[in-house]
Amino acid sequence: MSFVLVVDAEQRPLSPTHPGHARKLLSRGKAAVWRRYPFTIILKTVVPPAQPASLRLKIDPGSKTTGIALVNDTTGQVVWAAELAHRGQQVTERLAQRRACRRSRCQRHTRYRPARFDNRRRREGWLPPSLESRIANVLTWVERLRRWCPIGALSLELVKFDTQLMQDAEISGVEYQHGELAGYEVKEYLLEKWGRRCAYCGATDRPLQVEHIAPQVRHGSDRVSNLALACRDCNDAKGKRTAEEFWYPQTQAQARQPLRDAAAVNVTRWALYHRLMALGLPLETGTGGRTKWNRTRRGLPKTHWLDAACVGASTPEPLRVHGIAPLAMRATGRHSRQMCRTNAAGFPDKAPKATSVVDGFRTGDMVRAVVPATSTKAGVYVGQIAIRATGFCNLTTTTGTVQGIHVRYCQPLHRGDGYAYATGVALPPQA
Ligand SMILES: [Zn+2]
Repeated sequence: MSFVLVVDAEQRPLSPTHPGHARKLLSRGKAAVWRRYPFTIILKTVVPPAQPASLRLKIDPGSKTTGIALVNDTTGQVVWAAELAHRGQQVTERLAQRRACRRSRCQRHTRYRPARFDNRRRREGWLPPSLESRIANVLTWVERLRRWCPIGALSLELVKFDTQLMQDAEISGVEYQHGELAGYEVKEYLLEKWGRRCAYCGATDRPLQVEHIAPQVRHGSDRVSNLALACRDCNDAKGKRTAEEFWYPQTQAQARQPLRDAAAVNVTRWALYHRLMALGLPLETGTGGRTKWNRTRRGLPKTHWLDAACVGASTPEPLRVHGIAPLAMRATGRHSRQMCRTNAAGFPDKAPKATSVVDGFRTGDMVRAVVPATSTKAGVYVGQIAIRATGFCNLTTTTGTVQGIHVRYCQPLHRGDGYAYATGVALPPQA
């Protein structure tokens, strides 16, 4: 189980505590539940917070899911972890829908509207809304976690590989060796350079090996300019031949071209970097190669939250992850503001959504529903509620959506805050 976050009576963050200790505090009446997700308790006394703040918040931003881990650098304990699912795709779809709806206006006989396609300026640093929402999700969670636990530093995976090291690698020849940090950086670089596909058959769906264009047995060097990625079949078929002899002169030519810097730049991550810098906390950055190296050396499986825990050079040598279950969080948005909904063909023909509040429950709240045996829906459900004006609502649980649960069977667990939550699965103990 993850540790329990603690705030004192004045809502100042204290060090997270073991769940057993938190249970004792709760049962003796010394604390109360402050938040359900992430589980936070509030003490009934004022406690001076420890100085300096001891935890490091580590972030591995992804396009669909961002891994988050809170790590105690001195003890190596991962205190809390989460996987944050973004809604970039949903934002894109909604905007396309709005665009289609507005565009169809010119076919309809509405009032005259002057053309206004050319009267907007984009401000400096503008990002598409789908990317902006990912950054906003991460910043929201950095700010929230700072309120509930003492965070003294941040770590962010910023780039896939060390660009400076790679420039050296192409020019002066840093040599590839598997199992070393530089080896992992080189592998990430090669993945980027060869587009994550086999340089010979173009396969993307199988493991790729680092392959020597002029083979090692014929004294081909370990320099990056002599390396490509190949699937096992192609690597075996090529054998002792060079790429040219294997009838792939273009691979041989491409290998000599260093990867342009621009290809390695990720706009979203840099924007996130600049906004995290503005928070004023010490910010460490790491490469994807370093993350993978840290994780592989510690024998940890690939998950978003473990990647986050392994970001950067500060990663403690023994990383204690036993029993930590990441909190699954999904950005959901906060209900529809559409004033006129459309039919399946995109034609505006419906009134805005009916009320999103019934009996004190609001769409997005986490609830626990106990439906009695007399009902066809008998059972206990925990999930996010979608309000229907009739009172018979939908519950989105971890296994799917259940329809027609009446609000009278529901108890509030957690008020909607733009995210849906589910507790993850704990890792098996470390070998
Ligand atoms: Zn292949």
